[in-house]
Amino acid sequence: MKLIRTGAEWNPLWLNHLRNNQQIGLIPTMGALHDGHLDLVAKSRSTCDVTLVSIFVNPTQFNNPEDFQKYPKTLDLDLEKLTQAGVDYVFLPSVEEMYPTPTQLKFDFGDLEHVLEGKFRPGHFNGVGVVVSKLFHLIRPHVSFFGQKDLQQVAIIKRLVADLSFDLKLEVIPTRREVDGLAMSSRNLRLSPQERLTALLLFSSLEKAKTELLNGKSWFEIQVEIRSGFENEPFAELEYFELIHPDSFETYTVFNSIQKSSICVAAFIGAVRLIDNMPIIS
Ligand code: AMP
Repeated sequence: MKLIRTGAEWNPLWLNHLRNNQQIGLIPTMGALHDGHLDLVAKSRSTCDVTLVSIFVNPTQFNNPEDFQKYPKTLDLDLEKLTQAGVDYVFLPSVEEMYPTPTQLKFDFGDLEHVLEGKFRPGHFNGVGVVVSKLFHLIRPHVSFFGQKDLQQVAIIKRLVADLSFDLKLEVIPTRREVDGLAMSSRNLRLSPQERLTALLLFSSLEKAKTELLNGKSWFEIQVEIRSGFENEPFAELEYFELIHPDSFETYTVFNSIQKSSICVAAFIGAVRLIDNMPIIS
């Protein structure tokens, strides 16, 4: 496995792979890798000839400075996991490499960025749009892999690729969960043992809501019930629990079994903000 720190180092390698007619798969990450990330790696390894994982904790997508500062960093362990997983390249750019000058360009993803994550994390999707565009330009992959865990990010990146005509394919990989159902996330490392137990409320709420929706209970009643479940938990604070269309992120007030839908949730567990989602009608 080769470590690369600059686009200039990658260019001749890229050219070589291109000449050999090899398909390059890119997996953008912020490190603190877990088995969810490794599912993306495995998919790239099984469908592409060359797999490149980028690790870059992108400062511009953090709307909360404390979240940025406390974002887990486990580089040595990450590199071990990626070696084991058979990754070909790890791209580890510096902030200066990614942002030689502060970015002036601003993305506006329209309605997509005014709800849920966009509403609660102003500026977040602009930062994601900028960094992912830069990675696509620097690495020029044939395929890029993203997790369904960040469902709204997937919708944003689909928009980005369509609107800017990036010549690549996107692959979306299902959410990897712990045995008890908690969605794997780098931020889980910051949970205390007590908070780790409370964090299960995200998954259990999604499951309960799904069952009740499919059994005919009204979405309004379900939302009330879920909100009160969070209010009863001293370590938990719900930000949103919404039924949405998974592409447009239009929020529904009423469930309709013939329209595509997913439930999305975001909550603070102690000081750690977690998100999760569950498809209802695919
Ligand atoms: P991150 O390092 O959190 O920016 O995540 C890098 C990529 O891994 C993103 O495309 C995420 O959606 C994806 N990812 C994060 N957690 C999971 C998970 N539990 N299962 C599958 N993919 C995930």
